[in-house]
Parts: sequence; C-alpha cells; structure tokens
Amino acid sequence: MRKVVAKFGGSNLKKKEDIQKLVNVIKAYNRPMVIVVSAFYGITNHLIKSLEEVKQDESKIKGLTNFLLTMKEEVIRENFDDEKWARDTLNKVERRIEELERYLIGVHYIGAVPEFVEDVILSFGERLSSLILAGILASKGVDAEEALPEEMPLITDGEFGNATVIYEAAEQGVKRRLDAEKVFVVPGFYGVSEEGKVTLLGRGGSDYSAAALARCLGAESLDVWKDVDGFMSADPKLVSCPKRIETLTYTEAAELSYFGAGILHPRTVEPLKEVGIPIHIGNIDTFNESITPRTVVQTYKTITDSIVKSVTYSDDFCILKLRGADVGMKKGVLAKVSVALDRAGINIKSVITSQIAINILLSAKDIKKAFGVIEALQLSAVTELVAIEQISTIAAVGEGLLDHPGIAGRLFSALACEDINVKMIVSGASSVATYFVVASQDRERAIKAIHAAFFN
Ligand code: ASP
Ligand code: MG
Repeated sequence: MRKVVAKFGGSNLKKKEDIQKLVNVIKAYNRPMVIVVSAFYGITNHLIKSLEEVKQDESKIKGLTNFLLTMKEEVIRENFDDEKWARDTLNKVERRIEELERYLIGVHYIGAVPEFVEDVILSFGERLSSLILAGILASKGVDAEEALPEEMPLITDGEFGNATVIYEAAEQGVKRRLDAEKVFVVPGFYGVSEEGKVTLLGRGGSDYSAAALARCLGAESLDVWKDVDGFMSADPKLVSCPKRIETLTYTEAAELSYFGAGILHPRTVEPLKEVGIPIHIGNIDTFNESITPRTVVQTYKTITDSIVKSVTYSDDFCILKLRGADVGMKKGVLAKVSVALDRAGINIKSVITSQIAINILLSAKDIKKAFGVIEALQLSAVTELVAIEQISTIAAVGEGLLDHPGIAGRLFSALACEDINVKMIVSGASSVATYFVVASQDRERAIKAIHAAFFN
C-alpha cells in the first residue's frame, strides 16, 4: 500500500486542544502512514536565543533544559490517560533532554557554537515533538513508532543550516526504515550528511522534510495540515471574504509560496512536482471526521475566469541598486557581484537590470552585509550604490496570466486609481506570476485594490 505522508507544523502544536485534534486526524486516516512534525510553537526560536546565552552563562543551560522539561511534563500530564505510558514517555523525554544538555555544556566550555553542533542542538525541538507524539498516539491505541532521519538515513548534501536532500542517496534507506505497516512519527527540519552529521533544512524546513520523505517513498500524497483554510485569493487578514482556492498547479503554489503566502515552505513543491505527487492542504480547525483537503496542488492546469487566482505579498525583500552610466553594457559586473554575494553566503532573490542600473533583490536580513560586500569590490562601472528598504513585493499569480491580454492593465489601473506608486515591475520571468515593488506603507491598500479588481 502506498503511504501518505502528513505534516503537522508548530501552529498545530500550541495548545492542549491542538494535540487532541491531531490525534483525531490521525485516527480518521486509519491507515499506516508517516507523520512529520515540527517543534512546538516558538521552540526553535527559543533554542536559537538560548544558544547565544549559553555561550556566556553556564546557568542558562539548566534554565533551558528545565523550561523544556516542565513544558513537556505538562503536555504529558494533559494528554495521557494511562499512567504507565505517561511515565515511560517522560523517561524517554528526560533522556533526550539530557542528550541536549551534553551538547550545551560543550558549547559553554568552548565558548562557541560550531555549525555542526548548532544544527544538532536546533533539531531538538523537532526531536522532542516526535518522541512525545509517538508516545501519545501509542497510548491511544495507534500502532505508532518514532523514526529518526539518522536511522534512515535521510541523506543531504551536507550544507549546515540549509541542506538539500539527495533523493537518490536517501531513497532506499528511507523506504526500508519506514516500510512496516504502522504509523511512523518523524521529526522534521533535518537530515544527515554522508558522514552522518545532522544538517538542518533551513528555517521552516519541516514542510520540505515531509516533501522529501514523500518523494523517497513515492507517496500517494503529501498532506500538510494547517490552521487556515488552504490557499486563499488573498490574506484573510487584509481583505474581507477572500476565496478559497480548490486547486493549484505546482508552479502556482511554488510562486505563491516564494512571494509570501505562508501556507507552504517555498522548497516543498519542487521534490513532488517532478514525480507528480499531489499536495493536500488540510484545515485542522474545521476538521470533522473527514480528511478532505481544502486546496490540492497537482499537475493539471485550471484557468479561472479571473485568471489571477491569488494576490500575495512579502515584506522580506530589499533592493541593492548599483548605478552607473553603462552597467548594462559593461561585461562581468553581474558575474563579480553574484560570485561575491555567494561567497558571503547571501542568496540573490531576483535581479532586474537596465542600461544604467542593476537592481538586486535580497532578503531584508542580508541587505547591510551585501552592501558592504559590493562596496568592497570597488567596481569601476558602479558610481553609486543604494540600499532600498521598507519595500514590499506583491505578486499576482495564476495560470494563463501571460497569455491573456489586459491582465497587467487591470492590475496597474487598480493601483493607479488608489494613487499607489509602483517602483518596479517584473512580468514574464515566470509564466504564472507578475510581481512588482511598492513602498511597505502602500502594501495593504495595493492588495485590497487588486483583490477588488479581480474578485469583486
Ligand atoms: N522548527 C523549525 C523552524 O522553526 C522548522 C519548522 O517549523 O518547519 O524553523
Ligand atoms: Mg513551521
């Protein structure tokens, strides 16, 4: 029987009722499957912060481990009916936290966090989730077992902090470890290098772990459970009555994720698109015995009447503008810039060029460092370097967007009517997305105007 892989994120793991809901969903599936879990809500951030403090102050080690233990004891107290299961799970949790403590002691004594140690430590949020959930499910009569990525092994390219899974290398081991007809609970967010070192898959990477496992297993589907109603025509916090999107192509889902629709991690789509495994987005809050998805991501294109299916935004973009009378004609400028940024570990999100300027779109967190790196290159063709912050990118996404006349006209007329200045426009780079840049303060009005133009 082909497996289903289901992912539950930190927002599904906040309160007592969340765990009860999760157990109900798993029981409703009533089949062998693989569950991938994130850390409980906020725990990864807490680990990151504590790690810094532990370097200086030994007492912070106990502070952190006691915090985790108290929190887990509470979860165990609230969710186990059976005394023996509760005690057994608590013992395992204590042992796992002791393991974490040994790494923290190491960090304190060397006064530094080598990247390979950082990745191990930050994976403990997920490791505690999987251990506890496997215990809770087993105590409620589900044939459940925890399975760790290192036991498979889920092999990656070995890049610490932001690794990529190597499917060909991982596939056999993953299949073997997850072969039995039971419910496996796997901690998301990490895999292991060829040498067996823990490597994180990037922030928010549990979706990607789940996609990679689904790919290795040739799963029937990847079911991502959220506390919202799947992909929507716009963020429900910004527009009233957004429409739920029933189906999206992989490309549409990838673009929406890339441009900020926080439903899926942007890396989730790629592993599944190549092999046609569908992604189902479920809403755990409206779950009632039925595991029917709210949005399905799959191969078949549907072109809706409005063409645009969703308008989304991201505030995590900044522009580094390299001005110069003929940067567009001078050869090698872009090559030097991209090599230097790559060496500095900075990801380029997009590049938009003209004869007199090269605009490099970067994540907001990278802008200062990138400015320094480019300045240091002292490129003769560049006469001015400007960092543009406080901007938002807005993307309109939908199959058919480039093939239908008038879409761009409607988009930008809607903005013009609201007197919103568009700083930059990119169309044609993706067949399903047009995106543009506005000042952050205009972002909400822009989304409302476009949504009204296409959906009212
Ligand atoms: N816990 C990890 C993070 O916060 C991974 C995830 O939530 O997907 O980044
Ligand atoms: Mg998450």
